[in-house]
Amino acid sequence: MKGKSFHKILIANRGEIALRIMRTCRALGIATVAVYSDADLRSPHVRWADEAVHLGPPPSKDSYLNIAKILEAARRTEAEAIHPGYGFLAENAEFAAACEAAGLTFIGPSAELIRQMGLKSVARKIMAAASVPVVPGYDGEDQSLAALRDQARRIGFPLLIKASAGGGGKGMRVVREEAEFDVAIEGARREAEKAFGDGRLLLEKYIEQARHVEFQILGDHHGHLVHLFERECSVQRRHQKIIEESPSPALSTELRQQMGAAAVTAGRAIGYTNAGTVEFILTPAGEFYFIEVNTRLQVEHPVTEMVTGLDLVKLQIEIAEGKPLPFKQEDLRQQGHAIEARLYAEDPAHDFLPATGTILDWQLPPASAGLRIDSGVEQLTEVGIYYDPLLAKLIAYGEDREEALRQLAYGLKQLTIQGVQTNQEFLSRLLEHPEFQRGAFHTGSINQHLAQLIGKGDETKDRVAAAVTVLYQLKLLQAENQLLPQLELNYRNNPYRDPSMKVQVGEDKYEVSYRHLGQDRYKVSGDGWQFEAQVVSFQPGRLRLSLDGVQRLFRVAQAGERFYIHSSLGYSVVSRLPRYPQRQVAAEEETANAPMPGQVLKVLVSPGQQVAEGEGLLILEAMKMEQVIKATTAGIVEAVLVKEGELVTPGEALVQITSQELQGLKE
Ligand code: ADP
Repeated sequence: MKGKSFHKILIANRGEIALRIMRTCRALGIATVAVYSDADLRSPHVRWADEAVHLGPPPSKDSYLNIAKILEAARRTEAEAIHPGYGFLAENAEFAAACEAAGLTFIGPSAELIRQMGLKSVARKIMAAASVPVVPGYDGEDQSLAALRDQARRIGFPLLIKASAGGGGKGMRVVREEAEFDVAIEGARREAEKAFGDGRLLLEKYIEQARHVEFQILGDHHGHLVHLFERECSVQRRHQKIIEESPSPALSTELRQQMGAAAVTAGRAIGYTNAGTVEFILTPAGEFYFIEVNTRLQVEHPVTEMVTGLDLVKLQIEIAEGKPLPFKQEDLRQQGHAIEARLYAEDPAHDFLPATGTILDWQLPPASAGLRIDSGVEQLTEVGIYYDPLLAKLIAYGEDREEALRQLAYGLKQLTIQGVQTNQEFLSRLLEHPEFQRGAFHTGSINQHLAQLIGKGDETKDRVAAAVTVLYQLKLLQAENQLLPQLELNYRNNPYRDPSMKVQVGEDKYEVSYRHLGQDRYKVSGDGWQFEAQVVSFQPGRLRLSLDGVQRLFRVAQAGERFYIHSSLGYSVVSRLPRYPQRQVAAEEETANAPMPGQVLKVLVSPGQQVAEGEGLLILEAMKMEQVIKATTAGIVEAVLVKEGELVTPGEALVQITSQELQGLKE
């Protein structure tokens, strides 16, 4: 292959990975071109690039997935190569082929290789033929229900149904017994057809308490291929990773050698070029099986970079330029320990559903040698419904696992993100969990310990949050009200009672009274509790407060009646309640509201229709996940307030139902 030297690269992606790629380009003196949708006009990746080309409206198909528009952007800016990042078009063979056809270098493997590995069934067959162990299963052509059922009996239960063309955990179903099989096949097939336009399925023995261990590989165009050791990715929810580390606590030196050799065999079997990942399932008994090859840079690539000291994006670019790998397998070392945690806009307490909102406050932990943060957001970023809810990755490095873990836990606690629900506290609890600390976890561990990881309300923390909200408002009002600096908020000419405010933290309501004791000291009290408070310093957004002698900085962001508070105690969301209870209006009707932002995929009922409690009213889709909105009461559908295809916001009324009892009253 003839050597090239790129001067300008277009990055066909957004968010943290676009920025990550640009950083390396900049370090190499390569100019960058960003692409963006309307939703990203002011996003960091656009500002960071040397040039940025507008693609179209926010939906991915009109922007980041639109091959013609991206190629046109490359042509207009005279980019020589395209880096696809991960997700979007990264594993799209048609895109890779179109790049090459347009005279652009696609930074990744060949279109043909992407196509082959894009079908799990094809990949399995190739690997089995190359003597790489694959999970016992069925990847045959005969897709009739009868044939699949026969194969299922042969493999035995529990088993896992996968979409052959699948990815991102979609179309996957665990089947525990034969009676569930037919229904599961139908469901998986429908989902696969819809998501991937390909309903072909494969069956695998479901490995209980499995670990996910993957190997990074790199191949050049001169026949060299190496592995860069493993990444342990067993901490998963919805079959998707949230914490990754290297080395894996589960591998002995011997097993690492065996699996590394298998990864290299797998790569050579397909003549792999550029960066890729060979994924394995590891059984509790220490047997390992190939599951798939990802033909791109992975989200979790930084852990490999930290333990090997290499820049994977730089290597990808050099390989694409036709340069040979600058090292041999025996030159590579895995040194120290790295752990990554993925910060997602999502709600762990509600099945990890993606969350949206505006980032009101964004503050990174203090820089330290052992902590790398790859993020794609900033203050005032709108986290919308259109793209992956990954906000940032925190990657900690230490001499050993304990040190890395401590760094990560500390960094995670220090990071402030207000205004959008995230999995930050969930991740913190995960890192503190004894099973995780021992390194003894598997892909089912999160489900097993879910209640504990989601955590319960913390009374002390809630009271602190209530007190902070009240004092914060007081200080804010004093600051705004320069004319009457002595006047207290809610000043009342009643010597017998302290002024008070009503707030809500979680499910609990608090009436908080306060009394100024002079010199910015206050007594703040609620039902059965009180704090001696001293305001140390105040500015909008920040209140440094000593409560009963313990001083902390509270970062406060306000949106309407809501206060987002972060301190070393963690997060709290506090709502300000009206001073006097509003007159209760008797609810005549029940409405089904949107629990999350999304798009109405299908309306299942029509006005006048009788519905039972729990009956499906409509299907909502957010971030490519479907959710059925169910009736919370039996009754008659009065009105359907939304149309198919419509975008809805959280809390928006969708369907109105007159409940059975009320109907009875009306008649
Ligand atoms: P996707 O491409 O949709 O991400 P994968 O085949 O990579 O799907 O599998 C995703 C996850 O599902 C794995 O990381 C692992 O946790 C689990 N998994 C996959 N295959 C098996 C199996 N045969 N037994 C048990 N768990 C599995």
